[in-house]
Amino acid sequence: GAAPTKDVAWEKSVCRFCGTGCGVMVGTRNGKIVAVQGDEKNPTNKGLLCIKGYSLPGIVSGQDRLTSPMIRKGGKLVKATWDEALDLVARKFGETLKAHGPESVAMYGSGQWMITDGYAASKWFRAGMGSNNVEANARLCMASAVTGFMTTFGSDEPMGCYEDLDLCDVLVLWGNNMAENHPVLFSRVLENKRKNPKMQLIDLATRRTPSTDAADLYVEFQPQTDLALANGICHLLIKKGLVDRDFVEKHVVFKKGKTGIGYGLEDRFKFADEAKLSTFDEFTTFLADYSPDKVEKLTGVPVATLERLADTFGNSKLKVMSVWCMGVNQHSRGTWMNNLIYNVHLLTGQICKPGATPMSLTGQPSACGTVREVGTLAHRLPADMVVMNPEHRALAAKIWKVPVEKLNPKPGLNTVEMFRAFDRGDIKCLWIQTTNPFVSMPNLNRYRKGAKKGEGRFIVVSDVYPTETTQFADVILPAAMWVEREGMFGNTERRTQQWNQLATPPKGCMADDWQILEVARRMGYGHLFPTDPKTYVRELFEEYRQFTLGNGKDVASYEDLKSHRGLRWPVVNGKETARRYVEGEDPYVKPGEGIKFYKNKADAGKAVVWLRPFEPAAEAPDKDYPLWLSTGRVIEHWHTGTMTRRVPQLNRAVPKAFVEVHPEDAKALGIQDGQTVRVVSRRGTLDLPARIDGRCKVQKGHLFIPFFDESLLANLLTLDSYCPISAEPDYKKCSARLERV
Ligand code: SF4
Repeated sequence: GAAPTKDVAWEKSVCRFCGTGCGVMVGTRNGKIVAVQGDEKNPTNKGLLCIKGYSLPGIVSGQDRLTSPMIRKGGKLVKATWDEALDLVARKFGETLKAHGPESVAMYGSGQWMITDGYAASKWFRAGMGSNNVEANARLCMASAVTGFMTTFGSDEPMGCYEDLDLCDVLVLWGNNMAENHPVLFSRVLENKRKNPKMQLIDLATRRTPSTDAADLYVEFQPQTDLALANGICHLLIKKGLVDRDFVEKHVVFKKGKTGIGYGLEDRFKFADEAKLSTFDEFTTFLADYSPDKVEKLTGVPVATLERLADTFGNSKLKVMSVWCMGVNQHSRGTWMNNLIYNVHLLTGQICKPGATPMSLTGQPSACGTVREVGTLAHRLPADMVVMNPEHRALAAKIWKVPVEKLNPKPGLNTVEMFRAFDRGDIKCLWIQTTNPFVSMPNLNRYRKGAKKGEGRFIVVSDVYPTETTQFADVILPAAMWVEREGMFGNTERRTQQWNQLATPPKGCMADDWQILEVARRMGYGHLFPTDPKTYVRELFEEYRQFTLGNGKDVASYEDLKSHRGLRWPVVNGKETARRYVEGEDPYVKPGEGIKFYKNKADAGKAVVWLRPFEPAAEAPDKDYPLWLSTGRVIEHWHTGTMTRRVPQLNRAVPKAFVEVHPEDAKALGIQDGQTVRVVSRRGTLDLPARIDGRCKVQKGHLFIPFFDESLLANLLTLDSYCPISAEPDYKKCSARLERV
């Protein structure tokens, strides 16, 4: 616990930044945050925080907090009262709905939304307006993880837990820079290494990062060829007789087909998918194309290293864990790549055991809790349910107390298609909360053009600070954030965490869920929502919880969450579940069943090994654009930097974006470290300083740009092609050229 300090009240909360979900103790005096420290009682971080966590007080106290609603009048944003702003938003949504139907309105939220924000938005849209155009920016980071889980296991979110990081003998990073992007979890890995000298860290990546510095084996591969790498490992597992035949017999079915179940396919959605059953023999034949020499040629990974990887996964005496994040998800075949990592674990039985598990990490603090569990993607309802399924709609109608006909069975538009529809003018009213799409969308020029068109389009933006996105707003609504309100997040390991309102927001700032309820009430949907300002958060959460009970997704009661440092679902009789699908741990697995993937009812409780081929990237280097360009994050900044750039020490540490260049490419162009260079892609141009000898090292022929800098927009260059199953864009691969300025 936190040290008692005179006049300072300490209470539990959760870090506002990444998906790790570290517990923080927040010290307040007279309603103002005066300090934070890591929460020693929180099992996630046991008192540790990273530099972003320690900077939490700074994110609420930037000099330019938005504190008054603004309305655009005569081209200028002018101050307005809350009543004026909310009346205008309600009138615009109401008129648009009446004139153009439910497909003309849209809401774009965030994995930084609190659970009740997403739930309120989803209910207002689906049960109120009959529209499924509710999306969240987690489409841009976690959608491929969702489709990967759904297609392989029939249920979203990991079976493993953070304790597995302490227990594994081998940790394989599939294209993620864990040291910078999940630093507190990475410290658990380093602690495991310290205690267990045999523990190995294997870094599979396209660029050297601080994670590589700690690795025992660095395996560099060419972009997009991770598909072939995973298939190559499976090829060798079979060839070397390292498949756990007993596990496969009991727990696996084989399937082929391009899409799988098709979650996320929106317009092209097929409920009865085109997947067909396959067999182990057919899988073996399919893998003939991934012999070690062929895979070496494609990936650049030497045969001996491939053999070592297969021997590692196939060693039943070792507990092997895999983790991944954006490198796998932001991929033109992100769903396939998730499936392929599961293939490796399922073939070897390295799953559902302490220290042996695949685990997809989340980027945002509530990508799991708010977006995936509450279902704020355009085709989803809470608890893995989907709008296309009549039984799921019937349950939603019952809980929401609306006629089932009110619920639209047609999925709304995914994020990229939503912004394209806005550009065309098909979507006319768009409300953006807690995210900055006019920095974070790929191929930005295309979407900023639509936002600038003005006429016939109406944009509402709720945020804490002015951003690139608020510039385009017709109405700005100032938001209360983090501990200025009561809230809940759900982290990577299924842990739902609650905190009370601890600080007073600046006068004029209101919570996102309150804003939604007020607009809904003004449109005549007040009957859908609670009204008591003191209890509405609890009431919304308890209503959402009704979707989860009895189906393996049970979240804890609000009361239980208040008195715990989070609980991992399924929570039955107040008891959390560390590992899913495991007898003795998961209450849904019956005595004698051992391991059961019970959510995959279509395949009798077995998981699916998919036959997924290599496919080239959507855009690859050529003679005009000869370099690979990738984008990502740095430890100091959160996403588009709107909060961390207002924290002086973080801003001083990395004040500006840069482009990482390989020394030989720099030498060929006569470029010095720090010199301004021009990066050109088919979609845009960006002048920024070259970094030749930084903390990360790109391969020859590769570039990397972080995307946190609103004044140097990396996404002017990126490509907006996306995985056809998850609709998640590939931010990690496009082609570019480098020029001297
Ligand atoms: Fe916050 Fe993530 Fe850092 Fe933990 S690791 S303190 S959750 S940013």
